[in-house]
Amino acid sequence: MHEQDSIFEQIVNRGHERLCFHHDPETGLKAIVAIHSTALGNALGGTRRWYYASEEDAVFDVLRLSKGMTYKAAVSGLPMGGAKSVIMLPSRDHPRSEVEARAMGRFVDTFGGSYIAAEDVGVDIEFIDWMAMETDHVMGGEKISTGGDPSPWTALGAFHGMRASLIHMGLGDDFSGVKVAVQGVGHVGQNLCRLLQEAGATIVVSDINEAKVDTAVELFGCEVVHHGDILQTECDILAPCALGNIIDGTAVQQLRCSILCGAANNILGDPEEDAVALKTTGIVYAPDFVVNAGGLIHLAGLHLGMSPEQLQQKNDEIFDTTLQILVDGSSASSTYAAAVDLAQSRIATGGETQCHAP
Ligand code: NAD
Repeated sequence: MHEQDSIFEQIVNRGHERLCFHHDPETGLKAIVAIHSTALGNALGGTRRWYYASEEDAVFDVLRLSKGMTYKAAVSGLPMGGAKSVIMLPSRDHPRSEVEARAMGRFVDTFGGSYIAAEDVGVDIEFIDWMAMETDHVMGGEKISTGGDPSPWTALGAFHGMRASLIHMGLGDDFSGVKVAVQGVGHVGQNLCRLLQEAGATIVVSDINEAKVDTAVELFGCEVVHHGDILQTECDILAPCALGNIIDGTAVQQLRCSILCGAANNILGDPEEDAVALKTTGIVYAPDFVVNAGGLIHLAGLHLGMSPEQLQQKNDEIFDTTLQILVDGSSASSTYAAAVDLAQSRIATGGETQCHAP
C-alpha cells in the first residue's frame, strides 16, 4: 500500500525537509535518506535494509518511518528531529557486507551530522561499526561507534507502555494472569519476552523464522501460534514486534485483544482512521511511536551526553507519557490523535520545557 501522489506531493503533504537518493557505482548500493524535521535538532533514525517490490514502496516506507521518528523524539522530550534511511536490496536474501555498509556510511557522512544513522530491521551492530569506518554520524555499534544494540531499551519502553495500559484499564500493575501475544521474536520481541516472563505473564509468540520461535520457547517457556493466526489470538495484550502496516480497518474488527501495544513502527495501515476504529471497538491502543521510543532515547541520549541515570529516567518516562496519552485519548478522537497533538505542541514550542538533556 502506498500513495499515488508525486514524490514532491508526498514530501509536501508529510512536511518533509529532504528526501535524498544515492547510488554508489562501485558497490551498486541504492539508498534513500529522508529527513522529516530538524526543528528540534539533528535527526537520529535507523537504517533499514530491505528488499522492496518497487521504488515507490521504498519511498513510502522511508517517508512514513522518518515522520514517525519526528513524533517519537518529540513525545519523548528529546531535542532531536526525525529521519530514517533505507537500503534497497537487489534481492530478498542479498547478503550484508562491509563494502555495502561503508558505502552507506559515506552517504550518511554527506549530511554532516544533521542525519545520524543507527540500527533498524536488517542492520546489526557489526554493520553499524562498518558504517562508522566512514562517518562519525552513526550510533549503535560497539567497536567504532558507541551505544550498542538498542533493542533491550526498546523492549523496556514497550513493557512500560503495557504497564500504563493495564493501569489505565483499571487492571493494576500486575502481569500475573495477563496473556500477551507477541508477533515477531527478533531483537525486540525476545527482550520483551524476557521482561514479560520475569513479570509473570503468559506469553504466546509467533515468528516466520522457526529458529526464533524455538529460542523463545526454550528461553521463556512461551506458547506458540502459527504466524498467520497471531493477530486473531485471544489475549489481553497484542504486541506486534515484527514489521509495520499489519492492522487496517478490517483487521481491527478481527482483533481479540483488550490492549494493542507493540514495538513495531507504523503498526496501523492508516493510523488516523484505524486508531478511531480501535477506540470505537473498545481496544486500548498505546501508540507505537510513544512506546517504542526506548531505543531512540538510549542512542540519542548517549549522543547528547546523558548519564546512565538520566537515560534510565528518560526510559521510565515512557510509562508516564503513555498514561497521559491514554487519558487524553478519551477526549480526543483517538489515542493516536492525542499522541500527535502532544508531539506537535512540543515541536511548536521548540521542546523547551520537555528537554531534560544536559
Ligand atoms: P528484527 O529483525 O530483529 O526482528 C523482527 C522479527 O519479526 C524477525 O524475527 C522476523 O522473522 C519476524 N517477522 C517478520 N515478519 C513476521 C510476520 N509476518 N509474523 C511473525 N514474525 C515476523 O527486528 P527488531 O529490531 O526486533 O525490530 C522489530 C520491530 O520493532 C521493527 O518494526 C522495528 O522497526 C521496530 N523497532 C525496533 C527498535 C529497535 O531498537 N530494534 C526500535 C524501535 C522500533
